[in-house]
Order: sequence, then C-alpha cells, then structure tokens
Amino acid sequence: MSMVKTLWVLVEGLFSKPMTIKFPHEAIEIPDAYRGEHKFDIDRCASCGFCAEICPNKAIEMVKLPEQYTQKYKKTYPRIDLRKCCFCALCQDICVKKCLKMTKNVFLATPDPASLIKDPMPKVQGEE
Ligand code: SF4
Ligand code: SF4
Repeated sequence: MSMVKTLWVLVEGLFSKPMTIKFPHEAIEIPDAYRGEHKFDIDRCASCGFCAEICPNKAIEMVKLPEQYTQKYKKTYPRIDLRKCCFCALCQDICVKKCLKMTKNVFLATPDPASLIKDPMPKVQGEE
C-alpha cells in the first residue's frame, strides 16, 4: 500500500462511524429469524414428545410438572437444557401445535449453568 493510500485510510478512519457498539448500553438489532432461547406455551402442548425425539443433542426431556400443577397438567412436557442445545430449531419445526418457538433472546450467558435448564411451567398471570 502506498504512503498516500495509507494516510487516506487513517484519515478516513478518524472521521467514520466506529464498527463497534457500546455494549451493554447499545445493542445490535437481532434479525427476526434469529434462533435464540425457546418460548414454550404449555396450554397448547399435546405432550406428543416429537420435539424430544428429534433433538439431535438430547437437550429435551419430557417431564412431569411439580405436584401443585398436575391436576391441570397431567401429562409430560418438554424440559429444555440450553447447555446442550445447538439452536438448530428442529424442535420448533416439528411441533405441530406451534407451541415451541425460538425467540430473539441471545442474552443467555450466566454464572449459574443450572439456570439454563428450562422446566416447563404454567404461564404466570398477564404473560402472553
Ligand atoms: S433447538 Fe435443536 S438442539 Fe436445541 S432443543 Fe431444539 S432440537 Fe434440540
Ligand atoms: S412442544 Fe410441540 S412437539 Fe413438543 S411435546 Fe409439545 S406439542 Fe409435541
């Protein structure tokens, strides 16, 4: 690279917008089709277990809910271990009830690995 070109690149860099952002105060826009953390709607789930069967990483296990919920939710439902998940979305694609959906939540880093095991739970009041 000639000296002039080098200087031009330097000057251009001084006046152009930085490529980086000031995370966590700023964040990049996550694309709509992004495959982040799952959202599960237990009231639509048929307990078919297809999601657990298709998961290539064995990240889904069909489990019972805690006793206080078993009167309404008698069957087994998917527990998702995000520590094993590769976010392939096969579970979402095979779910005929469309009750397992990948969201744009990318913020999954945590000092508590156990919190990445997502138990199926009834919706809390006011939740979508
Ligand atoms: S996204 Fe893929 S790896 Fe993750 S739970 Fe679903 S099927 Fe398993
Ligand atoms: S989440 Fe979907 S695929 Fe999985 S058990 Fe429920 S209905 Fe079946």
